[in-house]
Amino acid sequence: MNESSPFVLDVGKVLREGMPEPFLRVGDSPDRIGAEMIAVEPGTEVTVEGMITPLGGGVLVDADVRAPLTGQCVRCLADLVDTLDVHVSAVFSASEDFITGEDAEEGDEIARVIDDKVDMTQAVIDEAVLALPFNPTCELIGAGECSEAKTGVPAPDGVSGEEERVDPRWAGLAEKFGNLSADDADEGDKK
Ligand SMILES: [Zn+2]
Repeated sequence: MNESSPFVLDVGKVLREGMPEPFLRVGDSPDRIGAEMIAVEPGTEVTVEGMITPLGGGVLVDADVRAPLTGQCVRCLADLVDTLDVHVSAVFSASEDFITGEDAEEGDEIARVIDDKVDMTQAVIDEAVLALPFNPTCELIGAGECSEAKTGVPAPDGVSGEEERVDPRWAGLAEKFGNLSADDADEGDKK
């Protein structure tokens, strides 16, 4: 278990004393958390704040998880910046005979307390995937509409895949040299 992770908590005291304990952890996320197009990248500082509650043979961890999100608009590929803010609730068992309750489904494995520690990473990832848009756009994130200007700009790496289009740099030359390159420009416009 990665103990420097802000998602790993020591629940030993709560298990021994049977009293709820608040916690606040700030640290770098060890994993990428989120959906395909928008996520908390590894190494981003996350804040995890909540309460560890004893359940008799286990603990319940309730936490608010906040972290900066980065992603890309699926429509215009503009960079998106947002904040992840999810509430995670996870149960960890500390003994074999931990009562899981009637609503626990067959084969539904309850996460374990290991060496007095619990790891909330998977619970946070599951919650973030549910909370984040699968197809994030500028509008959805609140950055306004995708602008025409953005969508019309070819990829900066030059691998736009649009060979038919006249490169703006050559278009400028074509104007300068008139007839000489006008034919080429016409070729480019025909498909
Ligand atoms: Zn957009």
